[in-house]
Amino acid sequence: MDLFYYINPQTLFTIIGGLLLLISGLMTFFLIDKNLECKKLQSDLNKLVRSFHEIDEQAKLIVKTDLELNKAQEELDKRLNGLEALQKTSRLISTTLDEIEIFTRIDKSLMMDLGFEKNLILVYDSAHKFKCRVDLGFSKEEIEHILISLQNDEELQSALKAGNIFSSATQATLKNDKIIKIFRVAHFVLTPILCKNGMLGVLCVGNRSDASAVTAGDEELISILANQIGQSLENAQLFEQVYRSSQILESKVQDRTKQLASALEEVQKISKTKSEFISAVSHELRTPLTSIKGYASILMTGKLGEIPESVHERLDKINKHSDNLVKMINDLLDISRIESGRAEMRFEKHKLAALIENVHDILTPQLREKNIHWTIQIDAGIDEIPMDRNQIERVFINLVGNAIKFTPPEGTITVTARIDEKMVQVEVTDTGIGISSEDLPKLFDEFYRVENDINQYVKGTGLGLSLVKKIIEAHQGKIWATSEPNKGTTFHFTLPLEKNIPDQTLPEGS
Ligand code: ADP
Repeated sequence: MDLFYYINPQTLFTIIGGLLLLISGLMTFFLIDKNLECKKLQSDLNKLVRSFHEIDEQAKLIVKTDLELNKAQEELDKRLNGLEALQKTSRLISTTLDEIEIFTRIDKSLMMDLGFEKNLILVYDSAHKFKCRVDLGFSKEEIEHILISLQNDEELQSALKAGNIFSSATQATLKNDKIIKIFRVAHFVLTPILCKNGMLGVLCVGNRSDASAVTAGDEELISILANQIGQSLENAQLFEQVYRSSQILESKVQDRTKQLASALEEVQKISKTKSEFISAVSHELRTPLTSIKGYASILMTGKLGEIPESVHERLDKINKHSDNLVKMINDLLDISRIESGRAEMRFEKHKLAALIENVHDILTPQLREKNIHWTIQIDAGIDEIPMDRNQIERVFINLVGNAIKFTPPEGTITVTARIDEKMVQVEVTDTGIGISSEDLPKLFDEFYRVENDINQYVKGTGLGLSLVKKIIEAHQGKIWATSEPNKGTTFHFTLPLEKNIPDQTLPEGS
């Protein structure tokens, strides 16, 4: 208090004024500072609001992405199921070649796996009319309506035949509207079932509700399935065609076999009659011929009186011709006996080389006469083989005799024998006039003689090769000839190494 007494009021006012100024200065400073702080806070707040908005946006994006992901997952699951169903269907239908079985295998549960409410497979029948083969989710009336409407809609059919696939996943068209009306589905895929020869039918799948609209993926899946069905149906149809052709062929073969069997029977009957006739005639001819030959011989001896030279000459001719006739008759009798199985084949083991050597000895005069070279080559492994010695000797005499007859002087005749599996193959080769390819197939026919220069002058019956063939066949062998005109001929025949046929016994009195 004492202090106020000593300070004059002016000073006091000055002090108070100074204090007030200081306080207001401090206040101003404080307010400025607060203001700055407020501004900072405001900017932070703004930042926070912005961040909040950003976070909100991001949250919304995440929710949206999540929804999309869920949707994509659903779509993926659907496609996976569809693909599994497609794979199962493909596997099932590609392993059958029966059309009915194909549609039995595409059953309703399989269709359901594809994930569509409505499924329909229509296929053309033989009258080219649509027929329902598989259906799911359609009523009878609806199917009836679809069959009639589609059958009558030439334009839609043509578009399908051209390979067009219709789907509600693509842009709406007039045809799509039509399909919605025909099939009574809001969402659909309608695809043709095609094969190489055109359209076999159609496949339609669909859903009624908007929640299950079809996608481009569905369209692809259904078109693959339709292709698979088309391929399986085509395979089944081809198999059916092949099977039917084979049935026809088989019945034709059976008919032909029957005809051939009866023709063979007829030929056998005729051949038997011919053999019997030849045999009877030959027997009848042989007796008087023997008498003629006998009388001619007696006359030639002169015992019945001297005969002039000119008569002797004619009697000699009668004798020679009678010999030829006897030979011919004997050949004919042998052919008919072997043919009818009445000839006796006495199978015994004989050395082939010795037999051929014997034939060579018999024919040596003729060989010498024409100065024909004779060679023989027999495989070391060939020793004794089962045969009727006399008959096989006849075969060699005929073949070598012919070879001599049809080979010019200085020629060569070669006889070879070698083992070919279970047979011995013999070849008689000459360097003679040869035989033309037209004559070769007829060579073994009875009385067949080739028209050539030698045959014009040399007598023959045309029975030799026929008899040879019969003998070889009676031994279960085969005979054939190869030849080149003017170069030579080879006769080939086979004989079994082991006997596999029983002895044939000649009936008494034949
Ligand atoms: P033939 O000798 O009595 O005429 P074959 O039946 O033995 O009767 O022979 C039939 C025909 O086959 C002969 O006329 C002859 O034209 C032909 N031929 C047979 N063997 C030969 C051969 N080695 N070379 C050429 N032609 C042959």
